[in-house]
Amino acid sequence: MNNRMNIEFDSKSANEAFARLVIAGFVTSLDPTVEEMEEIKTAVSEAVTNSVIHGYQMKDGVITMECNIHNNEVTITVKDNGVGIEDIEKAKEPLYTTCEEEERSGMGFAFMEMFMDVVEVESEIGKGTTVRMKKYIRSNFIE
Ligand code: ATP
Ligand code: MG
Repeated sequence: MNNRMNIEFDSKSANEAFARLVIAGFVTSLDPTVEEMEEIKTAVSEAVTNSVIHGYQMKDGVITMECNIHNNEVTITVKDNGVGIEDIEKAKEPLYTTCEEEERSGMGFAFMEMFMDVVEVESEIGKGTTVRMKKYIRSNFIE
């Protein structure tokens, strides 16, 4: 089955929960396990939280979330037009954070990589950041 959706919402902390619900609702048609569903929701909220906190630094902005389903492959894109990331490789390292004074642990990208099969980050300073994540839903392919 192929299916796609695209939404945009304001950069607000309240929309982290909203994005989790939207993605959960959309991928339900693939009949993922509870664990797979939890992993997708966590990866999405980490990406959206990053856009709100780091990308837009809690100021106004627009976040776009897109999801493509192609057979059992789910591709999710979370995009902001915020400040951008200077060193993507460094940002992806577990425990690396630019917000040590706050309660950030630097594990957002690590969780995304743990829970999704592919994580690609594109970013440009002053232009914004796009995180593209892919996951293969295996639950409905058990022989
Ligand atoms: P945690 O996710 O554990 O609360 P964190 O957000 O600092 O902490 P990561 O999510 O791994 O950790 O992100 C690492 C760093 O990458 C951030 O501290 C920030 O500097 C940068 N970063 C991540 N996403 C974005 C974004 N959308 N725009 C700008 N910078 C970002
Ligand atoms: Mg984070």
